[in-house]
Amino acid sequence: MAGRIHPEDLETVRERSRIDEVVAAFVQLRPAGGGSLTGLCPFHDEKTPSFRVTPAKGFYYCFGCGEGGDVIGFVQKINNMGFTEAVEFLADRCGVQLRYTEGDGGPRHEPGLRMRILEANQAAAEFFAGQLTSPDAVEGRRFLHGRGFTREHAELFGIGFAPRSGTGLREHLLGRKFSRDDLVKAGLVRENGWDFFQGRLVWPIRDAGRSTLGFGARRLFDDDRMPAKYLNTPETIVYKKSHVLYGLDLARTHIGKKNQAVVVEGYTDVMACHVAGVDTAVASCGTAFGADHSRMLDRLMTADAHSGEVVFTFDGDAAGQAAALKVFSSDASFTAQTYVAVEPTGLDPCDLRIQSGDGAVRELVARRVPLYRYVMRNTIERFDLDRADGRLAAVRAAAPLVASVRDAALVSGYLRELAGWVGLNPDEVRAEVTRANARKVPHEPPPIPAAPPASGEGTDPGLKHTSA
Ligand SMILES: [Zn+2]
Repeated sequence: MAGRIHPEDLETVRERSRIDEVVAAFVQLRPAGGGSLTGLCPFHDEKTPSFRVTPAKGFYYCFGCGEGGDVIGFVQKINNMGFTEAVEFLADRCGVQLRYTEGDGGPRHEPGLRMRILEANQAAAEFFAGQLTSPDAVEGRRFLHGRGFTREHAELFGIGFAPRSGTGLREHLLGRKFSRDDLVKAGLVRENGWDFFQGRLVWPIRDAGRSTLGFGARRLFDDDRMPAKYLNTPETIVYKKSHVLYGLDLARTHIGKKNQAVVVEGYTDVMACHVAGVDTAVASCGTAFGADHSRMLDRLMTADAHSGEVVFTFDGDAAGQAAALKVFSSDASFTAQTYVAVEPTGLDPCDLRIQSGDGAVRELVARRVPLYRYVMRNTIERFDLDRADGRLAAVRAAAPLVASVRDAALVSGYLRELAGWVGLNPDEVRAEVTRANARKVPHEPPPIPAAPPASGEGTDPGLKHTSA
């Protein structure tokens, strides 16, 4: 068993870890007078800030949910860590080398697993980045060049190359005195001893504090034995796919300042946005954008979350429409306003930048429309509105969407808009929505109508008809 942390070191860690700085990595804070700071509580859902940090006392407290404590308690709670692990986390942050008093198993001189994994990830990121200039990586460089990125861009995002040998990373890290066991726990090396990523272009995925949590990797070679075009680090104690956003390290402060976050679909889209000046762009990694992701973004925006915007970019195709619908159905988890930006020709931000330049990417985001409008237009456009039965069917398909909106203040506006689109009397539409509400099982997610057929190549994303 581990020894106890030396009391002197524990004191040093407490003294050097400023609670306002530690909290600010997770919560957007603003002055609240009397030397205190305030922001949205990271431990419960709220729209007005009741979370308070008092740096002079080294304490935080939430008047909403009653959570409170010192800097170590905050780290324990937010990272779901034990006491020792939280102290190690902070020691790492403020550069304190911990000593351990003798415990059951004698002194322990090595830091905790979380720290070791972060260190291994950092060393791996540096190794991958170094490999990008190797002759072996020519395909990787060609890919980046083809996507409109320069060497400087690659360096800014820390992009690297995982060698094809399948043992390059393992050998390098074992040489740096990382244990094989830790490399497996970091998801860098497989149980069978092979490197997790082989012959792939690699993006480091970092947290808001710029620690590397894991990697995303793109297939480059036809003989790649892993079928997936994109591979991500498996779940580890530091990499949880529902809690990571690619680009967050670069976007964090801009999201806070602009009160806007742009959610795109892939690594190269995040890159294209940042390079083009949309510096609030992030992407979920290997999973759909979910409620945990939205909470992460909400926390970074200013205390008045109602004025914050989350802008999703989706492909105009069927998959993109289904993704938009999914976000719409889970909209209750957003405190920010939700928008969608869809390129009429279906180009993603990366392709759009290649074809039309940086300005077009900024334009795309500037032309955003409310998500509900996009989703409802997509739903009703599958019906022939020139026919009476088509209009009725369209309203029946859209009614569950309106019924799923929790904010009653919004519903009547949506109703009128829907009635206008299909050319029916608002009362008729209201009746359908009431019927849809009655069918709804409480506490169940709203029904999701089937996405339009995938063959609908020219499916109109509906934006050109809206006047937003
Ligand atoms: Zn709270």
